Amino acid sequence: MVILHDPSCTRYHAPGHPERPQRVAATVELLRKRHPDWVWQQPGPAGEEALLRAHPPAHLERLTRGPDFDADTAFLPEIAAHARLAAGAALAAMDLALDRGGKAFSLMRPPGHHATRNRAMGFCYLNHIAIAALAARARGVERVAVWDFDAHHGNGTEAILQGKPGILFAIVHEEFSYPGTGTAHTANCRNWALPPLSPRADHLAALNASWDSIRAFQPGLVLVSAGFDAYAGDPLTDMYLETEDFRTLGNWVRESGIPSAAILEGGYSDHLPELIDGFLCGWNGAT
Ligand SMILES: [Zn+2]
Repeated sequence: MVILHDPSCTRYHAPGHPERPQRVAATVELLRKRHPDWVWQQPGPAGEEALLRAHPPAHLERLTRGPDFDADTAFLPEIAAHARLAAGAALAAMDLALDRGGKAFSLMRPPGHHATRNRAMGFCYLNHIAIAALAARARGVERVAVWDFDAHHGNGTEAILQGKPGILFAIVHEEFSYPGTGTAHTANCRNWALPPLSPRADHLAALNASWDSIRAFQPGLVLVSAGFDAYAGDPLTDMYLETEDFRTLGNWVRESGIPSAAILEGGYSDHLPELIDGFLCGWNGAT
């Protein structure tokens, strides 16, 4: 397992914001302690060419100045650099999956799946997973699948990947939760919207169906928007997944044998490190 991480991603915060540095800092500590054999790599920032596949120049420029993008998504002087580094980590994870058939996880912030082509929103500034998916297509991968199990709908990813040839986007999320989108299937974006407080078994069944759609697509690469806020103890959502369920999701990815990379999206409970570890252990095949 390769973990893409740059400690600088913990060096910004907006006071009182749930997307806080400790999410990643505590996960680093736990993974280093439990898995001394895992390889840590420091990513570089994403290049202009890769960013411009998903975002226009005007959006990249907007990230460099205020005012705040919305009430949840602050402008910070260094935020563009942080977002570019997280996008670079997603690209590096994708490259590792394709070049070495390895398993690579980007443990960075900010997250990305709410960022649309033109708009930073929902704690997200650049859409790292869409940037990586489009880069994989540019590398010549015929079919790229993106799987998003964050409790919130990946509206930005959907908006950017909508109608893109050779790409399937499958997402399971909490209906009516932020940002309120994702209630219908479209040509290449498949949504499973679950009502708040859905039973855990229903949620797992939807995840299973979404994963089946990915396998049926027979992708040469799976990119996972790994968000952990569908956890029963998450303060921002009303869903009931348990730690072992994230391990199950990791098991599915491993058992498919498809080259895969994953990046951290949401997840706001104090148990986030354990949830990430569960997913990674399932994916890695550790017992
Ligand atoms: Zn989320």
